[in-house]
Amino acid sequence: MRSISIFGATGSIGESTFDLIRRAGGAVTYRTVALTGGRNIARLAEMARELRAEVAVTAHEDELPALRAALAGSGVEATAGATAIAEAADRPADWTMSAIVGAAGLVPGLRALRHGRMLALANKESLVTAGTLLMQTARDHGATILPVDSEHSAVFQALTGEDMRAVERVIITASGGPFRDWPLDRLAAATVHQAVAHPNWSMGQRISIDSASMFNKALELIETREFFGFAPDQIEVLVHPQSIVHALVGFCDGGVMAHMGPPDMRHAIGFALHWPERGQVPVARLDLAALGQLTFQSPDEVRFPALRLAREVMRTRGLSGAAFNAAKEIALDHFIAGKLAFLDMAAVVEGTLDRLSGEIALGAGIPDLDAVLATDHLARIRADELARTRHRNS
Ligand code: NAD
Ligand code: MG
Repeated sequence: MRSISIFGATGSIGESTFDLIRRAGGAVTYRTVALTGGRNIARLAEMARELRAEVAVTAHEDELPALRAALAGSGVEATAGATAIAEAADRPADWTMSAIVGAAGLVPGLRALRHGRMLALANKESLVTAGTLLMQTARDHGATILPVDSEHSAVFQALTGEDMRAVERVIITASGGPFRDWPLDRLAAATVHQAVAHPNWSMGQRISIDSASMFNKALELIETREFFGFAPDQIEVLVHPQSIVHALVGFCDGGVMAHMGPPDMRHAIGFALHWPERGQVPVARLDLAALGQLTFQSPDEVRFPALRLAREVMRTRGLSGAAFNAAKEIALDHFIAGKLAFLDMAAVVEGTLDRLSGEIALGAGIPDLDAVLATDHLARIRADELARTRHRNS
């Protein structure tokens, strides 16, 4: 029986993973090792009971009594805190879903890789923050990383059986989000409520706002560079409002392989769950005749400066991804709190990168985990300082 763990089980990707596991027979088909979540204790306990997990972990130590109470009599162990999450990743599981949001997903992912496991990686922030380290850890320990971001799963699928040397370019698509056609002055006044209303995908709040600002696509550009190893100028973004074509790979003979699918993350999750085979996944089937047309346009780096900043990070590498991601997370916190204007998120990230480049060698060598975590920490402090100066100015 295959054993699984889900980190970030109570989130959008976690719930979709749970749904696929349950439809495939749940506790009859899979042995569940660890499930982790945040403050939604009732849901975490419900999932752990249903899948008869070995351990359920909440990220918050003050929630431990509630988790223990919710699991009373179930035989499921309850633990809490960041260390407990990392320890849960040490427990043997054949397949691990990394679906915590933010840089907090890095350490559990690394721990699973150190045990040579199969890691389904939805947490793009860990590749952005420490791509070289993550990929090197996987190689050193014979672990497998399966990309779960829809675009990266699409590239992975389009590359199957191909010679990497024959690849000329890779194109990841972007829906353009709810603000695709908004002029700059309207973008300046965009609210949280408007930003979370994604036209095609149903996702967690943070990634939905990142889609509206194109920071999500910026993270994905860096993710493409780190995961597949393509040079920055081989990777392009194409706006495609229908979200049906997820990525395209162009080869040296002029041929292009495009991957299509419905905008439902269960396809990419199911692909990773069943890999290297293909299993039944209950997503809607594509009906291109009903869709009628698929459209494409170039992205606008003036209205969406996150893309331009990502290009810088792709060239600099080193510690710049850790700084970029951390600054973005802080800018997003301030936007969600209603204190920072939508367009100022990019200004805070750019300002943080500028400041940090004067304080530390952002592009130096292959950073270890301590250097990554120290950069993440410093970037959060600088980004918070910058965001606060913008509160007062606005
Ligand atoms: P979400 O906000 O819905 O869920 C996040 C999960 O992580 C929850 O279980 C939450 O309790 C947990 N969590 C949050 N902060 C934590 C912390 N500090 N420590 C431990 N656990 C914490 O997020 P999501 O939309 O499911 O996204 C998860 C990851 O997958 C993100 O990295 C996102 O970029 C990526 N992703 C999501 C989608 C999508 O469609 N939702 C698509 C592609 C990639
Ligand atoms: Mg994506």
